[in-house]
Amino acid sequence: MSQNITIQEAIQKVELANEIFTKLKIQQADRPLEKMLKVGEILLAKKDEFARVITSEMGKPVFESIAEIEKSALNCEFYVENVAEFLKDRKYETDRYDALVRYEPLGVILGVMPWNFPFWQVFRFAVPTILAGNTVVVKHASNVPKSAQLIEEIFLEAGFEKGTYQNIPLDSKHIQEIIELQQIKAVSLTGSEKAGSAVASVAGKEIKKTVLELGGSNAFIVMDDADLDKILEKAINARYRNAGQSCIAAKRFLVQEGIFDEFLEKFTQKVKELKVGDPFDAETQIGPLARVDLAEEAEKQVSKSVEMGAKIVFGGKRDEAFYYPTVITEITDEMPVFKEETFAPIAVVRKFKTFEEAIELSNKTSFGLGVSICSKNIEEVSKKVHLFEEGAVFFNELVRSDPKLPFGGVKKSGFGRELSEEGIREFTNIKTIFFS
Ligand code: NAP
Repeated sequence: MSQNITIQEAIQKVELANEIFTKLKIQQADRPLEKMLKVGEILLAKKDEFARVITSEMGKPVFESIAEIEKSALNCEFYVENVAEFLKDRKYETDRYDALVRYEPLGVILGVMPWNFPFWQVFRFAVPTILAGNTVVVKHASNVPKSAQLIEEIFLEAGFEKGTYQNIPLDSKHIQEIIELQQIKAVSLTGSEKAGSAVASVAGKEIKKTVLELGGSNAFIVMDDADLDKILEKAINARYRNAGQSCIAAKRFLVQEGIFDEFLEKFTQKVKELKVGDPFDAETQIGPLARVDLAEEAEKQVSKSVEMGAKIVFGGKRDEAFYYPTVITEITDEMPVFKEETFAPIAVVRKFKTFEEAIELSNKTSFGLGVSICSKNIEEVSKKVHLFEEGAVFFNELVRSDPKLPFGGVKKSGFGRELSEEGIREFTNIKTIFFS
């Protein structure tokens, strides 16, 4: 396990990042497209090795770790192909003036990253941010130190100059001092509401831009006319991937009364078939949670909800860091499994009568990351997209991120966007240049 560095060492790294940024800016250096492609190639060439590190550090099944590495590589390719188009000058010619809008880099950007997708979250932030011309320093979650170190090594192996991407393994109590450094121009944090609020408060005081990707409690709405054969597998993946430790997981299943019993029976049957076990076993679908305290927290949320009248249809058991796949019904608004984010393989299934009621229940959360709506009558239900307080609405599909599409939330899920052209523009100075 790598050691934390001191605040003085971290400050030196920020200074180096600033020197490299300034040098590249003065030279008007070309975008490092070849090097970023190489980053993607290294990821793919060593995906088995990297996947084992992810699995050993946070417990996700190894096939999911491999998929995470592949997606990170895809993100490199995507931005290399599209950065020129996304950041090209916009020109305006009128009879009175000519003008340009240019996307310039800001400087050193701090990333504060979580453990649940230890590679993907970092690459989602760092690849566009670096291709936009910035340099980055990353404070990763303290339970994935090896993944954090490996990512820095990948950038160096790909030929990036030392200082372009740096890992700063630092206790989170020092992050305030890092944000206050004048060389740090902005912060991107993916993590909990508590961490997001702490970091954004400091950044706000310093008048520095923040992008926050925080928690979620997505609803998965199943209308009476939904095609169960098509959506059941998606519903299972939406909740149980990564043992439920995903911000965009479907955490609350809202099912219309006419299909409720059939859905609950078929869904529960599939949950029973999930293979729980050693995450290094290729057959395993559910591994342990990343830490014992996370499983204990899930246990508390479930037992409190049961005291309040919820009924466990299947599961509801913990063994050390394993929390077994669970299905719960007879849910009310005030229960922790409905009101709070559940970061474990726990599905709550709740009945509704009308689509209007489903919209109301879906919005009954402090979060606003995304929602899935399953129906054969998309034309009708899609008329109500505007009523969902979400960053994304997916029809007949689980909510997922895709480099081509913007990703982010509203309400307590955060602000700003990652991925696509919106994501790469977040850490740029959008400069207006005017010719009279
Ligand atoms: P976390 O405890 O908030 O940690 C995230 C990062 O923030 C870690 O690097 C952590 O460092 C750091 N941190 C924690 N408190 C801090 C503070 N006061 N000041 C500065 N940094 C601080 O979250 P997590 O448990 O790793 O991740 C789970 C949460 O992230 C869930 O709520 C999940 O929904 C959310 N998430 C959101 C997205 C999204 O895209 N919206 C994606 C993934 C996860 P230490 O490890 O050293 O404490």
